[in-house]
Amino acid sequence: MRILVIGCGGVATVAIHKCCQNMLFTEICIASRTVSKCEALAAKLAPTTQAKLTTATVDADSLASLTALMRSYKPHTVLNVALPYQDLTIMDACLACGANYVDTANYEAENTDDPAWRAIYEKRCKEKGFTAYFDYSWQWAYQEKFREAGLTALLGTGFDPGVTSVFTAYALKHYFDEIHTIDILDCNGGDHGYPFATNFNPEINLREVSANGSYWENGHWVETKPMEIKREYDFAGVGKKDMYLLHHEEIESLAKNIPGVKRIRFFMTFGQSYLTHMQCLQNVGMLGTTPVAFEGHEIVPIKFLKALLPDPATLGPRTVGKTNIGCIFTGIKDGKERRIYIYNVCDHQACYRETGAQAVSYTTGVPAMIGTALVAGGIWKGAGVFNVEEFDPDPYMDMLDQYGLPWVVDEDPALVD
Ligand code: NDP
Repeated sequence: MRILVIGCGGVATVAIHKCCQNMLFTEICIASRTVSKCEALAAKLAPTTQAKLTTATVDADSLASLTALMRSYKPHTVLNVALPYQDLTIMDACLACGANYVDTANYEAENTDDPAWRAIYEKRCKEKGFTAYFDYSWQWAYQEKFREAGLTALLGTGFDPGVTSVFTAYALKHYFDEIHTIDILDCNGGDHGYPFATNFNPEINLREVSANGSYWENGHWVETKPMEIKREYDFAGVGKKDMYLLHHEEIESLAKNIPGVKRIRFFMTFGQSYLTHMQCLQNVGMLGTTPVAFEGHEIVPIKFLKALLPDPATLGPRTVGKTNIGCIFTGIKDGKERRIYIYNVCDHQACYRETGAQAVSYTTGVPAMIGTALVAGGIWKGAGVFNVEEFDPDPYMDMLDQYGLPWVVDEDPALVD
C-alpha cells in the first residue's frame, strides 16, 4: 500500500515511525516544505523497515504543487500532518487525484483578517454560539464531493480529537445504552525544563489556549472567558493537577454524532507558570496574527514568537513525566446509572527512546497511523467525510494496544463537578 505523508514535524515523525512498523505500508513518501527534515527522517528509518521510503518537497498551500506530486506518486491515501491551514487544499488535491484523505486537526484559517473568511466566521459565531476560529463546517462541506468520488476522508485521528472520540464510540458500543455526559480530560504532567515552550506547534497551540472556552449543554453551546472554569483532578500516573475548560473541536462532532448526549466538556491541565507567560505574551500583543510594520519589514507577532520558542520537535530528550488523556462518561445501561473513565497513560521518556519525540507528539502520531491504516486497509470503509466516532471502534482500540497506547477502563471513577 502506497501512502503519502505531508508534513515532517513532531507528530509526523511519530506517525512515520509507526507506519514503518506496520507491514501494510509498503511505500511511504514523506513530503514537506523543508525537504531536508524528510530526508533525515527517511535516512534514520530506512534501515529499520521494509517499506520503501522516498521524500519530496511540497507546498501544501498550493493545489498545483500538491497535485503535481500526487499525480506522479499516485498514493492510495494521504496523511495530512502538516498544519490545519492546509486541510482544504490537501482535500482538494485528494479529490483531483483520487486519493483518500486523513488528518488530525480541523481546518483553521491562517489569515483571520481576511474579510471573506471573516464574514463567514461571524455568521457562524451568531448561528452556532461559539467563537473559536476553527470548526468542522469547512470540511463537512466536502461530504458530497468525497461521496461522489467514492473516496474516504477521515477527520481528526490524533488523540484529542481522535482517540477520545473512539473512546466515546467504544463506551457507547460496550458500556452504555445512552451516554448523558462526556468530560474529556487532557493532562500533561511532563516537564521540559524550559520556562516556556509549547508541546506542539506554538501558533496552533497558543491560538487554541488563549481563545474563549465553551461546552455543549442541552443542545447548544455555552461560551466562557478563557480559563474561566478551573477544576482539580487526581490523574492516575500523574497526580493532582489544575485543569481548565477549553473549546475543543471534538465537542462539535460528538454533539452531532452521539445521540442523546446532554453535556460535553473538555479540560486541559496547565501549570501557573505557563498561564502567566501566556497572559503576558497576550497582553503585549505577541499572540497577534495581524502583520505589524517593524523597521521596514512586516512581522506577524505569533510567527515571530514561534521563531523564538523551542521547536516542539526538540523537546523529546528533555521532557520527563507522563501524560494521562481520556474521557469520563456517565449514562444508562440496562436501566441503571453508570459511570466509566477510559484513559491512556503515556511516559515522555519511553516515547523518546522509541521515536525521538515526546509524548504529545507520540499520542497524536500513533493514532494518525492507526486511522490511516484502517482507511488504507479498507477496514474503515465509506465514501464521504467521516469523523472517527462514526466507525467501529474495536479495531482501532486493538491497534492502540498493539502500537504503544494501551488504555484502561475504570468503572468507578471520580467525577468532575
Ligand atoms: P509542527 O509545526 O511540528 O510540524 C508541521 C509540519 O508541517 C512541518 O514539517 C512543516 O514544515 C510542515 N508544513 C507547514 N506548512 C507547510 C506547507 N505549506 N507545506 C508543506 N509542509 C508544511 O506541527 P506538529 O507536528 O506539532 O502538528 C502537526 C499537526 O498535528 C497539526 O495540524 C496539529 O494541529 C495537529 N495536532 C493534533 C493533535 C490531536 O491530538 N488531534 C495534537 C497535536 C497536534 P517546516 O518543517 O518547513 O516548518
